[in-house]
Amino acid sequence: MGIFGIPQISTGDILRGNISKGTPLGKAAKSLMDQGRLVSDDLVNEMVADRLAQPDTQRGYILDGFPRTLNQAEWLDTHLNVSKTTLPVVAISIVVSYDHLLRRITGRRISAAGRIYNVYSNPPAVPGICDVDGSSLVQRPDDSEEVFRERMKTFEAQTAPVIEHYHQQSRFQEVDGDQPVEQVTAAITDALKRLRQSTQTLSR
Ligand code: AMP
Repeated sequence: MGIFGIPQISTGDILRGNISKGTPLGKAAKSLMDQGRLVSDDLVNEMVADRLAQPDTQRGYILDGFPRTLNQAEWLDTHLNVSKTTLPVVAISIVVSYDHLLRRITGRRISAAGRIYNVYSNPPAVPGICDVDGSSLVQRPDDSEEVFRERMKTFEAQTAPVIEHYHQQSRFQEVDGDQPVEQVTAAITDALKRLRQSTQTLSR
């Protein structure tokens, strides 16, 4: 369960889950992910459709890392229209400068249970070991500096147009992600309050 008591649906997490289970989707996705490239829209859209059909999404959900292409954003608009959702739909972009992103990504280490540390900003007490359960911390294969650069190129080419797509709607807010975690969380909560007001005005 994510913040606000609704599920956080990360397309990257679902894909990594498929890779560790060795499913056909995981096999199709792995080498693209390791190179910092995107998995095909059709595969990801179908994966999201399946996840949104689960009953725990009825009270709302957070899509994390999706949509990442204009095709995905347009697919999502249509999917939400066709499924006649009554939930207010809003988009938030967390904007982080290049240098901060580089440290957050190359410094990220993950425990067996998915706890996230950062060797620069949130190191464990003993290097390489989770404070809570003693498991070894690992680095995602795509969190190297080399793949980070590719992921940034992919973002500029394929994901930046999605921001423009949402900019044209009154359901969109940007949040300064260079701040510490607590301030980013507070800024997201404020942005959601503002968006709730503007979507209420829209639906009147
Ligand atoms: P993330 O965990 O969001 O950083 O995603 C890790 C990788 O999974 C990305 O670099 C892509 O290769 C793939 N991926 C995650 N979400 C998507 C998406 N919406 N569309 C295409 N590929 C994705």
